Amino acid sequence: AEELKIAVGAMEISDKTVGDVMTKIDDVFMLPDTTTLNTKTVAEILRMGYTRIPVYSGDRNNVVSLLFVKDLALLDPDDNFTIQTVCNYHQHALRFVLLDTPLRVMLEEFKKGDYHLAMVNAIVEHDDQDPSYELQGVVTLEDIVEEILQAEIVDE
Ligand code: ADP
Repeated sequence: AEELKIAVGAMEISDKTVGDVMTKIDDVFMLPDTTTLNTKTVAEILRMGYTRIPVYSGDRNNVVSLLFVKDLALLDPDDNFTIQTVCNYHQHALRFVLLDTPLRVMLEEFKKGDYHLAMVNAIVEHDDQDPSYELQGVVTLEDIVEEILQAEIVDE
């Protein structure tokens, strides 16, 4: 049955990690927190078609919040609010996971329900200082579901 194949697919994800299915950092649509939300920028955000947009301060490695496209619905473009102002108002939860997190673990996290997108970090070792985090991409529930369905199709 279809359900059984999907269950088999789900088991096959067990040796994969978040790093295998994430959207890589260079392909992530992010915006600086200083962006003014006027007619032009709002149109660009809508055109990209993403539900959630990581927001960074300074450089792209420093993601500080998430902007939800639905936050823009009641915004007046003439107010010229910055993304920072809108994000401070909504305060959506921002989660980080490590690149080598098993998909099984990530799926359980998402199933708990309070978030469906996580920022993906790698730990980078340095010779002369403490290890640091480096942003690698984003992972969503959709990426994992896709992987499960793909495993199912390959299986046939
Ligand atoms: P959306 O609702 O924005 O389409 P999904 O959770 O359905 O997001 O994910 C669809 C795909 O888009 C996934 O591969 C996910 O990693 C990717 N994705 C989600 N948000 C972004 C973003 N801001 N920039 C680039 N890719 C993204």
